[in-house]
Amino acid sequence: PPAPPAGVLGGLDPDQRAAAEITEGPLLLLAGPGTGKTRTLTHRIAHLVEEQGVPPEACLTITFTRRAAEELRERLGALLGPSGARVPATTFHGLGLSILRAHPDLVAALRSGPTGAPPPSTALVSIAGDDERAALLAEALGASSPGARRIPRLLQAISSWKRRSPLGPAALSAAGPQPSEEIARAWRAHDAALAARGLVDLDDLVGLAVAVLEAYPEVQEAWRSRHRYVSIDEYQDIDAQQYRLVQALVPETGNVCAIGDPDQAIYSFRGADVGFFFRFQQDFPEARVVRLIRNYRSTRAIVDAALQVIAPSPTLGVRALVATFEDARRLTLHEAPTERAEAEFVVHTVERLLGGSTFFSRDSRRVAAGEEDTDLSFSDVAVLYRTEAQAEALREAFARSGMPFQRRSHRGLVERPAAEAIARAMRQAAQTEGAEGPVLDQLRAATAQLRAEAPPPTAAVPDPDAATSPPSLPPTLDLDGAAEILVPLARACGDDLRRFLLELGTELEVDAWDPRAERVSLLTLHASKGLEFRVVFLVGCEDGLLPLRIARDEDPDVSEERRLFYVGMTRARERLYLSWARERLRRGQVTKSEPSPFLREVEEALLERHRNEPKPKKVEAPAPDKRQLKLF
Ligand code: ATP
Ligand code: MG
Repeated sequence: PPAPPAGVLGGLDPDQRAAAEITEGPLLLLAGPGTGKTRTLTHRIAHLVEEQGVPPEACLTITFTRRAAEELRERLGALLGPSGARVPATTFHGLGLSILRAHPDLVAALRSGPTGAPPPSTALVSIAGDDERAALLAEALGASSPGARRIPRLLQAISSWKRRSPLGPAALSAAGPQPSEEIARAWRAHDAALAARGLVDLDDLVGLAVAVLEAYPEVQEAWRSRHRYVSIDEYQDIDAQQYRLVQALVPETGNVCAIGDPDQAIYSFRGADVGFFFRFQQDFPEARVVRLIRNYRSTRAIVDAALQVIAPSPTLGVRALVATFEDARRLTLHEAPTERAEAEFVVHTVERLLGGSTFFSRDSRRVAAGEEDTDLSFSDVAVLYRTEAQAEALREAFARSGMPFQRRSHRGLVERPAAEAIARAMRQAAQTEGAEGPVLDQLRAATAQLRAEAPPPTAAVPDPDAATSPPSLPPTLDLDGAAEILVPLARACGDDLRRFLLELGTELEVDAWDPRAERVSLLTLHASKGLEFRVVFLVGCEDGLLPLRIARDEDPDVSEERRLFYVGMTRARERLYLSWARERLRRGQVTKSEPSPFLREVEEALLERHRNEPKPKKVEAPAPDKRQLKLF
């Protein structure tokens, strides 16, 4: 065979390379999971920069989750060295935020409208989380506030209406549907309260950025001319506002590359629509379409089982995916009596895979470097679940075991009330002249709250390994992560305490998740997209959870839930464990469950069935290998 070509495209197969070599004009790359879409995207950019002399700054690359953006930056760094860091690789939210921050005056002018309040003095647009939004809304509605129970529903309604009209009810097209009077009033009050404080919410990040670009053609021109190439990964999850943002930024040359997999569309509940694949072809009729079919990620059994699960779902064109990774291993299907037993199954299996109970004495760094007796490390393992409520039993089981783990939900940016409280205190202090002195007290109070909020110490649970376990940090409080933020920030701000506080108030809004940490990942299925792990546990494979009951009520053929299941399965490289529990605590009630109907789609030959019986009441510190696993 001919020698592979030298240069950055040498790392691609011929189909991927052909796609990466289409550098001019619109390109649509449609392919299944693990076929190297993201790899093709990063190599294509490296090719543009390295071999065609395009400045890295001119290659805008957009994705959906922060973790995915981090991964893009990492891969670009590995391919391009220091110039990789100059490629603007960001999320839609991050891109929106940079646009808003570049033009705070225009944002304020747009939001205040002809009769509105004067723009606030802050020069930094900050993000309000759900708790802050709720407090501001309740305050703004004053005596007519409907109370704590109704506020979250109103916030949700406001959020979905904003997708149609980022500038409020007055800017809604008169022809379309209209909100109720209650919602419209809440919406106006909410947006006015945010605007008066220089705050935006997550929906505003993209919506207001689009509004600014569309209202000020010269600003749009300036942004458009910055980027000669625009690429979007995970394109199947794009919504209308995000599509408008892309359209506003596509360069004259039409160099826009959309990469995605319609079978992995999992955000239609939030307004995403695979119709934007057709829209792309309509808006860019000259677009080249490339498909990839070789899966480089997963074993044959995982690829085949995933294909069997997705088969009933309608496709855009032909669905083809071929495993290249030969391996005889089958999937494990585990039936547990209860959700606690299921969580213990996960923990004990991880212990077993990592070399039994001796792992506490091992140095995780040496494990990661492959110097210990096994080459699997904690960061190779992910546990995926459908709902946040399921995470609790897992968190408990991991905390008891002393194994390092980290948790992230798909809500991402802001989700911790106390972190929000700190952020708010910082922002207020930084905006008030001479208020830096009170700020330390507030910081102390908020930190105390953060600690109080953290889950109780695990000492209450008898733990045979307590003496050797590392102390288990509450998952939300990542001290190293905090130091990583604080130190460089303090350096960059020098003596400017005010600026430091302001930036800190903003930085705290990000959650402390470290993709490189030597920890097991606990993730919602939604947060797992685009990622891969050598070992994946997909827990709660039960009817009512997967598919989720409320989702089935809305969509009887549960196609989005099926795609979500498919996304979860295809995160696994080597080992995939599907588990379900016959009994689970749901909304405070013990509920009986049946296995997920999606499990029935997987042919028996690909599965190895496990089942564990309820443990006898009293057990002595069980060693993982003494576990009763019954095979049938
Ligand atoms: P998803 O749909 O889940 O986002 P993807 O299509 O983006 O998947 P990648 O993450 O780019 O897939 O690739 C999956 C894995 O396969 C990665 O580990 C990647 O490095 C590897 N891979 C892809 N193409 C090749 C190739 N030509 N040679 C070797 N490894 C490859
Ligand atoms: Mg990808």
